[in-house]
Amino acid sequence: MFEDVELDITCPGCGHKNVTTLRKLKARPGFACSKCDEMLEIDIEELTGVVKKAVEDARAQQAKRLKFRKN
Ligand SMILES: [Zn+2]
Repeated sequence: MFEDVELDITCPGCGHKNVTTLRKLKARPGFACSKCDEMLEIDIEELTGVVKKAVEDARAQQAKRLKFRKN
């Protein structure tokens, strides 16, 4: 499920890469950088769309490969 895909959220303050998932972000609105505690503004709706599309694209790539192999 795309809600469990690990995401790298780069903090604009310190550049630290925070690894989280959509599921966690949805459960706890507001996201603080684990290094500098800066609150990051995250648009859940937008992020969901981006992740969903990325997962679908990955699936499409996989499907293409499978099809390619068959041929
Ligand atoms: Zn930070």
